[in-house]
Amino acid sequence: MAKQRMQQCLTCGAFSLQTVCPKCGERAQAAAPLKWSPEDNRASLRRKMKGVEEKDWPSQLATLPSLQEMKQNHASEEE
Ligand SMILES: [Zn+2]
Repeated sequence: MAKQRMQQCLTCGAFSLQTVCPKCGERAQAAAPLKWSPEDNRASLRRKMKGVEEKDWPSQLATLPSLQEMKQNHASEEE
């Protein structure tokens, strides 16, 4: 069976799984993902989802080893 994608009619906006709209007979195309916007209109939603405003959020971030550790590792690699 062919891969089925949600299609949306270019004319009336109806959704279906066919490339021809069942409502008006016009062409339908794959429903597009959310539009990318430089203004990032959903940024506040994403921040909420990820809990960026929580107090302990920074502690979940990846960190680099300390400079001292990096120097030690580098030295041992050269030996
Ligand atoms: Zn249509």
